Amino acid sequence: MKFTKNQIERYSRQIILKKIGTIGQKKLFKSRVLIVGAGGLGSPIAIYLTALGIGKIGIIDKDNIEISNLSRQIIFSTNDLKKSKSSTAINKLRRINPDIQLKSFSKRLTKKNINQIGKNYDLIVDGSDNFRTRFLINDYCFKNKKILVSGAISKFDGQVYTFNFSKKKSPCLRCFIPNVPIDLDIDNCEYEGVLGTLGGIIGTIQANEVIKEILGIGDTLCGYVLIIDGLKLTFRKVKLNKRSDCYCNEI
Ligand SMILES: [Zn+2]
Repeated sequence: MKFTKNQIERYSRQIILKKIGTIGQKKLFKSRVLIVGAGGLGSPIAIYLTALGIGKIGIIDKDNIEISNLSRQIIFSTNDLKKSKSSTAINKLRRINPDIQLKSFSKRLTKKNINQIGKNYDLIVDGSDNFRTRFLINDYCFKNKKILVSGAISKFDGQVYTFNFSKKKSPCLRCFIPNVPIDLDIDNCEYEGVLGTLGGIIGTIQANEVIKEILGIGDTLCGYVLIIDGLKLTFRKVKLNKRSDCYCNEI
C-alpha cells in the first residue's frame, strides 16, 4: 500500500518519530482493532485510535445515549440523547478521520456472537462496564491468542491490563481476579459513581498500549497491572503472575 500526500501530511508528526516512521504508520493502518463499549473508556480510546490512523476499527455497544453518560462519554453531545452509542460514535469518528474503515455493532457482545465478530480483529480493547463481558473477552482472546488491552474505572481510581496471549507466559484477567464476583453484571460507575476524567486517563493509556503492542515498541504492561489512584495521583505497576491453577489453563 502507498499513502497519499494528504495521508503523509496527516500522520507526519508520527512518521517523523524514528520508532514509527512510514513503516510503523503503515503497520497501524493495516491493523484491525475492536473496541468493546462506547462509554467513558471507549470514547477516548476510539477518538485517539481513529485520529492516529488505526486502519480498521469496530465498536460494539448495545446501549443508547443517556444524559447521565455525558459527564464522561466525551464522544457524545447533548443532541445525541436516545441515539445508539455505537453508530453515533462511528459518525463522529468518520468526521475525525475519513480514511478509517469503521463498523458499528449495536448489540451486546455474547458467547454466541464473539467468534463471528472477533475473527475480523487482531486486537481487542475492553472498555466494558461489567465482569461478564470482561471475562468473556478474556477467555476469547486467551483461546485465540489475541492481544487484549483491558481497563476499568470506579470512583477516583482505575486499572489497566495488557495481555499478549501469543506469549506463553502471559497471565490473564482471571489470574488476577480468581474469585469471580457474585454479580457479574454490576456496573460500578452506576452504583459507586466515577469522576469523568478517569475515563480519559485510563482510556488514553489503553490506546497508548494498543499502539505499542502493534508496533512492538517500548515496554507494554503485559505481565503487570497498572493501578492508578486519581486522588493521590499515584501510579503503581504491580507484577501479575500466571497462576498454575487458573481457569484459563483449561480453556
Ligand atoms: Zn489466567
